[in-house]
Amino acid sequence: MNKVGVVGAGTMGNGIAQVFAQKGTNVVLVDIDQGLLDQAVARIDKNARRVAKKKEKDEDAYAAEITGRIETATDIPALSDCDLVVEAVSENLAIKEKVLKAIDDTIGPDAILASNTSSISITTLGALTNRPGKVIGMHFMNPVPVMKLVEIIRGELTEDETAAQVIACCEELGKVPLSANDYPGFVANRILMPMINEAVYTLMEGVAEKEAIDGVMKLGCAHPMGPLQLGDLIGLDVCLSIMEVLHRELGDSKYRPCPLLRRMVAAGLLGRKTGRGFYDYSR
Ligand code: NAD
Repeated sequence: MNKVGVVGAGTMGNGIAQVFAQKGTNVVLVDIDQGLLDQAVARIDKNARRVAKKKEKDEDAYAAEITGRIETATDIPALSDCDLVVEAVSENLAIKEKVLKAIDDTIGPDAILASNTSSISITTLGALTNRPGKVIGMHFMNPVPVMKLVEIIRGELTEDETAAQVIACCEELGKVPLSANDYPGFVANRILMPMINEAVYTLMEGVAEKEAIDGVMKLGCAHPMGPLQLGDLIGLDVCLSIMEVLHRELGDSKYRPCPLLRRMVAAGLLGRKTGRGFYDYSR
């Protein structure tokens, strides 16, 4: 890919922009206001310095090289010459619809439109555009620069050529693409989110303190991070939206979102990104 667009510069978007820039691809990063974009570039600069330190490279030069490949913009038309655009805006169908339609109107007819959605149907997203054959799910994992997996989800009308190009692109990034069918939550979130939701029930019902719940899963099940810590990392609003999609689309009460998860989101306690979730990150 010569030029890649990333729309949404939040938790995922800035990581996706970083991995493309690290592989030498020019990136256009779009969000709704310049302040958010500046924060994202500052985060990428910080991460690039960490990478430089590890690789014993000059920190200033490496960070400048990576951030130098990232152009920021607050309008979709800035994506007009991108070969691939990865949409990573908030997990909300109305927001995604507006953004996908605008991208579809802007990019060239052969360009691919990928969504990083965790749970919304790729077929539904494809149908919102005039290029369903070129719409695909490219589900990166958090934190993007660290996690190897990209789930690749084909919608009903996604063309073989689109899937082949996106799989090759993931391999060039040093990622491992694994294919899943277009079912709610695909594979990763179909399994992971009910576990996090159940951990929140376990906390709400007073089965154990949060540190004990996380400790049991780390020490007893060899998870690198406890489920409540992981929920805070992912963003509790993201977890809630995914549980709502699983509940609605699969129609099984076992996917009902925990009331405590709803309360935390209503209170704005979204995890690391707001400084407080199950744990306090303000210090
Ligand atoms: P986030 O809330 O951190 O970031 C979303 C960004 O989208 C924000 O910066 C917001 O300003 C921007 N945005 C909203 N409306 C926009 C618009 N109209 N135009 C441009 N930008 C707009 O969310 P996130 O956690 O980065 O999630 C993004 C997507 O990635 C979601 O679909 C989510 O399901 C998916 N995802 C998240 C994770 C995770 O661990 N957080 C993992 C895999 C996939």
